[in-house]
Amino acid sequence: MNGNKRIFAAFNQGVIPTIACFNKAKTPVEEWGIDLDALIGAMQDYVSQYVAPVWGTPAKLIKSTDFVKNAWAIVFLDDADQKGALAYHDLTPDGLPISKVFVRTTLDDHQSVSVSASHELVEMLVDPATNMMTTGPDAKTMYAYESADPVEEITFEVSGVEMSDFVYPAYFELFRKPGSVKFDQQNKVNKPFQILSGGYQILFKNGKWTQVSGSKAKARRFAKEDRRGHRSETRKAGRLKQADVPRLLRYKLTNRRH
Ligand SMILES: [Zn+2]
Repeated sequence: MNGNKRIFAAFNQGVIPTIACFNKAKTPVEEWGIDLDALIGAMQDYVSQYVAPVWGTPAKLIKSTDFVKNAWAIVFLDDADQKGALAYHDLTPDGLPISKVFVRTTLDDHQSVSVSASHELVEMLVDPATNMMTTGPDAKTMYAYESADPVEEITFEVSGVEMSDFVYPAYFELFRKPGSVKFDQQNKVNKPFQILSGGYQILFKNGKWTQVSGSKAKARRFAKEDRRGHRSETRKAGRLKQADVPRLLRYKLTNRRH
């Protein structure tokens, strides 16, 4: 491990990222409600046909069994309590973006794995370093550039697979008039910074991270959920950490040798 090598925001800029998708969850794939190959195929279509034309973020998804050199990663884990799960941290061993999809947590919450995975994917592509913020309706608040949170729970089908709705760049442009342009893929959002009833937003206010929900019901659900290891936690931590490969190896969670 070269722990001193750091790659900051924008990462491998100018290169279309390869994203290695690999499964370290023990939850049987039959319980996921989707086959992993079908999921990766649909996520590729989601990026190429829906996300990249709007956000300018193409990517090539590949199936792997572990980290791939110079590739970003999406790793499927059971939950944040799976041995070593949090040792995956926020960056791959090469210092590139990583998303964790907690399969067991997702299924226990009666959510779909494909929706969770596409949620993480679009947010990672739009803000790979989890550090982008913008001004917004409240002059004393900074708003996180999270592209799926405000429309969480709205989904649409891509190649027969349920995927997450996501907001468009105009969502973060306060000068846009209601209804004047497209604010999200599914046309559920009518104006900038609107939070749908099933969604939420991460804010930086008075020197602290906080979140607002689109409805009381959502706030209640959110409070019950286990969000460890998710992007909102990364933001609060304020510092990206590379995957702790020696620790993962102790838990037999990666095949990688250093
Ligand atoms: Zn999110």
